[in-house]
Amino acid sequence: MFKFKLCGRSMTARAGIIREAGDDITTPIRVLNSREMEHGLSLEKSGLVKLNFPHQIGEVTQYIKSDSIYNMIKNAEASIGLKNQIVEKSKRFNNRITIFHPSLEKNLEINDRINEVMIDIQTQSDIDAISILDKYNSSEKEFEKRLQRSIKQIEESDSIAEPMPVIRLDTDWRKFGGKLKICVNNNINIINLVYAPIKENYVNYSHLINNMCDEDIWLHLSEVGNKIFNKCSLIHTMPLFSIDSFALKSRPLPLGKFKKIKSIPKRFDSNTLGEIDINEHKQMYKNKLNCDCFVDNFMGKKRNLNNFLKVFNGAQLLRQAIACHNTCSSFNEFIYSRDKILENDYRTYLKRKKYIYQPVKKFFKIDLKDSLLKKHY
Ligand SMILES: [Zn+2]
Repeated sequence: MFKFKLCGRSMTARAGIIREAGDDITTPIRVLNSREMEHGLSLEKSGLVKLNFPHQIGEVTQYIKSDSIYNMIKNAEASIGLKNQIVEKSKRFNNRITIFHPSLEKNLEINDRINEVMIDIQTQSDIDAISILDKYNSSEKEFEKRLQRSIKQIEESDSIAEPMPVIRLDTDWRKFGGKLKICVNNNINIINLVYAPIKENYVNYSHLINNMCDEDIWLHLSEVGNKIFNKCSLIHTMPLFSIDSFALKSRPLPLGKFKKIKSIPKRFDSNTLGEIDINEHKQMYKNKLNCDCFVDNFMGKKRNLNNFLKVFNGAQLLRQAIACHNTCSSFNEFIYSRDKILENDYRTYLKRKKYIYQPVKKFFKIDLKDSLLKKHY
């Protein structure tokens, strides 16, 4: 059981607190997903790092194919198999708060039976926030009926987990606002939004800013892509839509087929909020790593970029090391940005971040270079 409390706003970003069993977790916050956790565990296994993710929240991310979900409701064995996978993934997060996010095909017909079975699996899997699934084109009436039935099912299972409706950001805009309102009216504490492209779904994103920004409801966003406008880290544009926590998209690659990083490796850079390649990194920082995450710290005195590339040699290792660096560096950056929101100085904060300029201009019509516009916010 947890509660979200809004603490402050700056521009359209919010800062809040998630209160859980006496612990306070601050937002905006980067959430560690199952894929990132697996990357970390593999690196640790190879003896190259000592795992130390600072994240207090883990998203148990499970990609489920449409066929498997239909199998699951017909066949108890398939559902036990899925439960075991979820339990296993949840355990890896140790004492962190766990959110379950199933990554599903948009057009999957999620009926009441599928939702019931999925809730059963979650209440038996030590998950703290339980996904309630919606058919993306369901009516508001259907949505509310399912939500109330699901809350009852969770309560009757004796679970103290939090009901968490899942709402896709590519939901029909005529229903999106209504569904959020239903969540508010049913005293929901956390909503799991599913990322969809901003341009095509701008009405829904604006709705969040205009109607949800004052609500004491934790808005968690899943399935965020890596980049936008070539270099900007997409996840770092998301606080501007009044969203509180964020996890990256993670769909598994086919076994043994780690895509080779053909292009020059890119790392998240907190100073620009960009995903910058090694050449740009060298121009900015020479051989310095400019980060103290557990991956970068592990090299001790030989902490530098050349050594990073030497130690994590090979496509798979490099991919894992970069994923771990990215999620830690991004986590720390969100913590830093929170102070700027509370000081109502988020705009000055963004002004220092070169790669955020373009999305802010395109989506909010704000030119960060133009100091005259400052009065608007
Ligand atoms: Zn790092």
